[in-house]
Amino acid sequence: MLFLDINDFMKSDEPVLAFDFAVDLSQLDDAFSAVSISGKIKNVAGVFRFSATVQGQYATVCDRCLDPVLLDLTAVLDTVIAPERSEDDSVIVTDGRIDLCRTIYDALVLSLPSKILCCPDCRGLCSMCGRNLNDENCECFHGTADSPLVVSE
Ligand SMILES: [Zn+2]
Ligand SMILES: [Zn+2]
Repeated sequence: MLFLDINDFMKSDEPVLAFDFAVDLSQLDDAFSAVSISGKIKNVAGVFRFSATVQGQYATVCDRCLDPVLLDLTAVLDTVIAPERSEDDSVIVTDGRIDLCRTIYDALVLSLPSKILCCPDCRGLCSMCGRNLNDENCECFHGTADSPLVVSE
């Protein structure tokens, strides 16, 4: 777990706290790799604005053909935080400490697309024979005349 302690910063006169971390999320979900966060907290007249960019890779499979896919994810966080909590709960603050792993994990999960494809025109698997139609054609639907599934008119 990785915490960013902002108690000293919040008590100080410093206008900006910049940070940049490489983060290991494998304890939460080992599908994530190469995760990093960089950003800053700005003190504007006692209001603390947290802004950061989270990047990471997510290993999964294509929804259509089940080939492995490595997604590049980017999430942007921008919210007002207080020592006890953040305004919209996108940044998790407890007792002046930001739980970076949890915050980053939540941001990356929210940035996952609802449909994951290896390429925009993935042809998927044949529902009859299970072949990956990106790699080879099968004869189930578009095949030769003696294929039992082709109905001649
Ligand atoms: Zn695919
Ligand atoms: Zn087939």
